[in-house]
Amino acid sequence: MKVEVLVFYISFLLISCDQLSTEAEMLISNTVKRQPKAKKIIIIQPFEGLPQSTTQLIAQQLKEIYSGEVTVKNAISLPKHALNYNKKRYRADSLIRYLGRLVNGNQIIIGLTDKDISTTKGKHSDWGVMGLGNCPGKSCIVSVFKLKGKNRIEKLFKLTIHELGHNYGLANTKTKHCPEKTCFMRDAEGKDHLTELKEFCSKCRLVLIDAGWKLD
Ligand SMILES: [Zn+2]
Ligand SMILES: [Zn+2]
Repeated sequence: MKVEVLVFYISFLLISCDQLSTEAEMLISNTVKRQPKAKKIIIIQPFEGLPQSTTQLIAQQLKEIYSGEVTVKNAISLPKHALNYNKKRYRADSLIRYLGRLVNGNQIIIGLTDKDISTTKGKHSDWGVMGLGNCPGKSCIVSVFKLKGKNRIEKLFKLTIHELGHNYGLANTKTKHCPEKTCFMRDAEGKDHLTELKEFCSKCRLVLIDAGWKLD
């Protein structure tokens, strides 16, 4: 009788060990699967006319919240082919296509300009915008042209992270934007709500943290 109990006990121990090692393997395979994605290199591409100090401020603030590489390029001229029908502003859609051709798959590029930019929006063939970004994609553009007030550079930075957010696939919903009123991914709806925007909401934040943004 005692021997039978002992055999049962030993086999129970063996089964337990086997279960433990299986669990350990599962943990290891989960760890392998959850390896962080390769961080994108964010390239800041200023266009001529924007003060260099503005580019530097945007780069400095971006470096504070992004753990990957941020590279600042020398200013280039705006491509003439991106001018709109009356040559008064530049087509943001043409500019992000142009910028997209300057980078490879592991890079994201943001153009900064002081010129007025526009795109097609619904029935409006030449709608003025503050920024535009592919969602998801590798290029976006922001303009300081429409920004008013003492905090216009702060607004430009909020726009910068909004358009970069689109590049990371944020707000790729039916409405294209976040419903949270204070989230940086809120829709401008043709107005400047930038002062009201305080942070990325918890949903938007998760996507960016996963991509190497320091938003804790
Ligand atoms: Zn947007
Ligand atoms: Zn949000």
